[in-house]
Amino acid sequence: MPKLSVRDIDPKGKRIFMRVDFNVPLNDNGEITDDTRIQASLPTIQYILERGGRLILASHLGRPKGKVNPKYSLKPAATRLAQILGKPVPFVADCIGPEAEAAAHALKDGEVLLLENLRFHPEEEKNVPEFAQKLAALAEVYVDDAFGSAHRAHASTEGITHFLSPCAAGLLMEKELEYLGKALENPARPYVAIVGGAKVSDKIELLQNFLKIADTVLVGGAMAYTFLKAQGVETGKSKTEDDKLDLAKSLLTEATSRGKHLLLPIDHIVADKFDVSAVAETAPTREIPADRIGLDIGPATRAEYAAEIAKAKTIVWNGPMGVFEMPQFAEGTLAIAKAVAASSAISIVGGGDSVAAVKKMGLGDKVSHISTGGGASLEFLSGITLPGVAALTEK
Ligand code: AMP
Repeated sequence: MPKLSVRDIDPKGKRIFMRVDFNVPLNDNGEITDDTRIQASLPTIQYILERGGRLILASHLGRPKGKVNPKYSLKPAATRLAQILGKPVPFVADCIGPEAEAAAHALKDGEVLLLENLRFHPEEEKNVPEFAQKLAALAEVYVDDAFGSAHRAHASTEGITHFLSPCAAGLLMEKELEYLGKALENPARPYVAIVGGAKVSDKIELLQNFLKIADTVLVGGAMAYTFLKAQGVETGKSKTEDDKLDLAKSLLTEATSRGKHLLLPIDHIVADKFDVSAVAETAPTREIPADRIGLDIGPATRAEYAAEIAKAKTIVWNGPMGVFEMPQFAEGTLAIAKAVAASSAISIVGGGDSVAAVKKMGLGDKVSHISTGGGASLEFLSGITLPGVAALTEK
């Protein structure tokens, strides 16, 4: 990896500002319902503490829009981290200012604290240099382990790097860059990309990039209907983006001219309404009846896609194949999860819904890499340089 890693620095006795992604889901009582993101940064946290670093952790949580809002406090994350580490994790009620400075300077070797939500200050997302400088004043070294936020140039991911040196990648960040980097630069072939989800427009750059680097692109989810409609296929009442039909057409043409396989569903699961009470029916052809909505890929499509996945040496998957939140339209996504898990290829799953599908089936350990970044992994795999990565010190 061309970027400096936390493994390249000696943390002993140094105050280290580490950007983590503790953007955990909370219930109405303010309790953490899933601590995966905290767990994901543990290796780096422990690595630094075991080597005598003085660790200052900072994160965002939710979208408090630049205002203090107790609903988005990171205090529960400090409590959970203390339980996991079996040592105190003092919580500082503001990420900048005298209290934060005093707490940071009072840290001894091997001690850790957590700062309050960075986004309680509007300057965080606006990347205001004065704010970044105040964050930097707390520490001597910067480590970024928040891959999921690296596609945003915020004060804690980019601005701060102008005031601290060195700036290193944490172990989680490093692992993400290694796996995603391999898929981007030197993938084993055949390379199969699976793209689903709601909108073509959201993933257009990703699709374009996959048409360049992948051999086969399997399309599912609502975005498939925009492609089918662009080919003149009846899509009934399915969700389509009619202002993207020309774009879909040009992507199909591009796939043909590049000699790539862009596969679309050949059958569907449909219903008369978009509702949990809707009864799922199989539409056995490419065409969807005029009064029906396509809500999942059908059994023949699942088999065809699974056969492509079985041949792959590299698999990248982002986005569900149907409305997988409703059980009767989840089978397509689950079938893909199974096929990916059964494959011995390098497999990378990114994006909340596809990751949830893989985990729901207990198949998380059967894929090579589950990316912690939705937007960040999409942008990275689209070939875009992430500002939070670009800002790290070169090795
Ligand atoms: P994305 O955030 O783009 O990955 O899209 C995820 C969302 O796409 C999920 O909430 C799915 O319910 C939705 N989705 C997938 N397939 C369909 C479909 N056929 N019709 C409507 N929504 C869909």
